[in-house]
Amino acid sequence: MGKVTGFKEFERQDETYTPVADRVKDYKEFTVPLKEEEITKQGSRCMDCGIPFCHSGCPLGNLIPDFNHMVHQGEWQKASWLLHSTNNFPEFTGRLCPAPCEKSCVLGIIEDPVSIENIEKNIVERAFKEGWIKPQPPKTRTGKTVAVVGSGPAGLAAAQQLNRAGHTVTVFERDDEVGGLLRYGIPNFKMEKGIIDRRVKILEAEGITFKTNVNVGVNYDVKDLKAFDSIVLCGGATERRGLPTPGADADGVVQAMDFLTQQTKVVLGKEVKDQVLATDKNVIVIGGGDTGSDCVGTSNRHGAKSVVNFEIMPKPPGHRSPTTPWPFWPLQLKTSSSHEEGVERNWLINTKEFIKDDSGKLTALKTVNVEWKMVPGERPQLIEIAGTEKTWPCDLALLALGFTGPESTLADKLGIKKDARSNYKAEYGKYQTNVSKIFAAGDMRRGQSLIVWAISEGREAARQVDLYLMGKSNLPSKDITGDLVAM
Ligand SMILES: Cc1cc2nc3c(=O)[nH]c(=O)nc-3n(C[C@H](O)[C@H](O)[C@H](O)COP(=O)(O)OP(=O)(O)OC[C@H]3O[C@@H](n4cnc5c(N)ncnc54)[C@H](O)[C@@H]3O)c2cc1C
Ligand code: SF4
Repeated sequence: MGKVTGFKEFERQDETYTPVADRVKDYKEFTVPLKEEEITKQGSRCMDCGIPFCHSGCPLGNLIPDFNHMVHQGEWQKASWLLHSTNNFPEFTGRLCPAPCEKSCVLGIIEDPVSIENIEKNIVERAFKEGWIKPQPPKTRTGKTVAVVGSGPAGLAAAQQLNRAGHTVTVFERDDEVGGLLRYGIPNFKMEKGIIDRRVKILEAEGITFKTNVNVGVNYDVKDLKAFDSIVLCGGATERRGLPTPGADADGVVQAMDFLTQQTKVVLGKEVKDQVLATDKNVIVIGGGDTGSDCVGTSNRHGAKSVVNFEIMPKPPGHRSPTTPWPFWPLQLKTSSSHEEGVERNWLINTKEFIKDDSGKLTALKTVNVEWKMVPGERPQLIEIAGTEKTWPCDLALLALGFTGPESTLADKLGIKKDARSNYKAEYGKYQTNVSKIFAAGDMRRGQSLIVWAISEGREAARQVDLYLMGKSNLPSKDITGDLVAM
């Protein structure tokens, strides 16, 4: 695999970014690709470690050492075939995945791990450029119909796999465009939307029907949905968490998802009435996760006066915490490209009040510093530290506090049971709900998660639907080898 001495000869090289002052002027992707010869060297750093832990680090079970080797050999088309045999959309994961595979790379024990995610992106971009990614409609149809509700990564992966198995697939999406959070959650500067359109064209040419502006259970009767032979629910976990703090109704306290969606719509040339802008404002983003980071990047592009971020949890260590040793996903401080563009980050801080003026406009935030009291066997307790109250000038507070779970409309109307965390109940590996012909996958089943998990669940659920409809399946699975169908 790779070059026997590759990991000794070559250091890890990552894509660079265009300078901050340039990239915040627009909403385009800003990575600077490495040259082909450099990517080839990066592939050769994969060291044939014997037991590739990266396989199990990747929720898709991507065949990482194999495609690294092909890249090292300059066999890009074979690399693309291998990559697509386990991952329907490497152009999404190659840009947006937090790459748990790299955290479990064996080389990572002593050196910088292999740059797997970037190699993945280069393979798929090369494949699109060379025209290797072509529609592959099934040779025969089974006569069975499947409805997929939701067109995020889980729904798209399920649809492509089921269509490949010969079923007639219709995807319902309530938004005006396909993509789920890839479309209207994740900002353009992390992934330009043409990347989704390019792939959706392939799916359409393979025979999948997309119906947008169709909100199942609202403007589309579930009776019609039940007419399909099987249904896969991939509606995401979109119930937003609020902040029940005095003054939260102030004009200027805005849900992050509204702020991000509006900006993407503007980039896509759609009309947005009364867009919330951060321009010349003191912005405070409450919540330190991916959504918060995306709000920071968007606020800086709007031209905010200041951008501050609050996180209620402690600041993670700069290096892998001993509590999360290799090959586990590390507890470690994450600094995103958006953070690098300018933000003052604060940890262990809680918002006590949103202060507004007489007209109801937000003017400031009152906070207090906190600590977490850990008592073995008990839930962690949040303790306020007396004397640390502070008032922060603020015209725009963005609530990026995560999601509490999926919306219940579909569960209520279809009679689907939920689990203790309010997710649609379907056993991992089986994906079947209490209604035998209805399956659930992605964030709707597992709660807010990652794109790579959504694709993985969509693929695996498709195999289970195929088994349910046909009694056998040739669709591949992470666990059971089927006939691999690539690209
Ligand atoms: C701001 C933000 C940034 C993120 N950044 C990253 C990142 O960088 N990397 C990463 O890996 N993950 C990221 N995530 C998480 C990732 O986007 C999700 O885990 C992933 O999109 C889940 O995919 P899904 O297909 O399960 O659901 P979703 O992508 O949420 O798609 C669900 C779709 O179902 C539709 N729908 C729901 N109900 C109905 C209905 N009744 N009828 C018709 N349609 C319906 C919704 O409109 C939506 O389009 C981010 C999330 C957010 C919010
Ligand atoms: S999908 Fe994510 S975890 Fe899997 S190989 Fe790609 S970057 Fe790694």
